[in-house]
Amino acid sequence: MRFNFFIGTRAIFGDNCVIENEMLFSQYGKKAFIVTGKSSAIESGALEDVCNVLTRRQIGYCIFNEIENNPTMENVSEAANEARKYGADFIIGIGGGSPLDAAKAIAVLAVNDISPVELYKNSFLNIPLPIIAIPTTAGTGSEVTPYSILTRKDIQIKMSFGNVDIFPKIAFLDARYTDSLPYETTVNTAVDALTHSIEGYICKRSTTASDLLAEKSIEQIGLCIDSLIKKDIKHEIREKLLYASMLGGMVISHTGTTILHGMGYSLTYFLDIAHGKANGLLLEKYLVFNYEEAKFKIDTILKLLNFSSLKELGNVMEALLGEMPKLMIEDIEMYAEKTINQRSALNNIREVSINDIVKIYRDAAKI
Ligand code: NAP
Ligand code: FE
Repeated sequence: MRFNFFIGTRAIFGDNCVIENEMLFSQYGKKAFIVTGKSSAIESGALEDVCNVLTRRQIGYCIFNEIENNPTMENVSEAANEARKYGADFIIGIGGGSPLDAAKAIAVLAVNDISPVELYKNSFLNIPLPIIAIPTTAGTGSEVTPYSILTRKDIQIKMSFGNVDIFPKIAFLDARYTDSLPYETTVNTAVDALTHSIEGYICKRSTTASDLLAEKSIEQIGLCIDSLIKKDIKHEIREKLLYASMLGGMVISHTGTTILHGMGYSLTYFLDIAHGKANGLLLEKYLVFNYEEAKFKIDTILKLLNFSSLKELGNVMEALLGEMPKLMIEDIEMYAEKTINQRSALNNIREVSINDIVKIYRDAAKI
């Protein structure tokens, strides 16, 4: 047995955790730069709590609320210029994975004179500004990961960068902030969390320590499936989803993801399919492909989710997410090439070729 497990984020979980721990905001300086999207911070109620805390602690703040879904390098670069002008001491990210990932890029760019593409060197002269992360979706686990996934228009793909200094210093997880999520986003993000835990569980880099978290995360999501299908999502279910998502983030911080995320990125980039949904549409066929190499673990996943077969898992994904849109074979070949060139392909438990990836896409698209 061997592992080297590190999570660089203090995770504080529970209703009202921002207000109850407000003294923790004071340790990072006098000027906060708040990074968020157009509406999530306001609708969730998180921004109001944070602004009240900052005012009480006499910390100044500047709000940048123009983070796009699947943020681009141009988007984070613009925000970083603002953070620099403001002279920010620390960054507060509020929102789904998009604002949280953007906050990480901004924390680096605000103190390093580099172009956004140099983020992918993963090594920076100056240590990034400290980040406080407040998720308003339950899916990416970005609040406890050292990864930031940006959209790269230059090479037409989404790509992740990160290093140990990018772990948020603190994550405040309050499930009330996810109450305002529309149904579709609730489902898509829950499926994202599920795929983190599944991919982390059956990949080459999984360890006993990460498996423990992955199993718990999958089990918690299993307990939510009925409510998701019935569209009856009570606070207790929101809490489970947020917990499962955080655990999934801890898993991938340790293991990384695999070809499933790699394949999903093209569906998002080219077809504008939400990130979690993109992964979920491919999940059954991805597990079929890996089944012989990870039989015991995939059977455990099915048990934890209370499914009798991979087919049933596929049916539930379709019931939750809808059908895979029509794909053209020329496009599939292009997506497969992008997937095989990503580092995550090496982490897949079964050796994978470009033809294997084409087949998974084709099977999922029924062509
Ligand atoms: P998202 O793109 O952050 O947000 C999706 C939509 O939900 C946005 O329109 C957002 O509004 C809205 N929203 C968020 N919280 C809400 C709330 N409480 N109430 C109402 N609306 C709300 O979605 P996401 O799935 O959480 O994040 C996806 C991104 O994370 C992708 O770029 C993906 O690649 C990345 N990701 C990162 C990691 C990692 O380890 N770092 C892992 C997996 C995925 P606003 O526009 O107002 O924000
Ligand atoms: Fe993801």
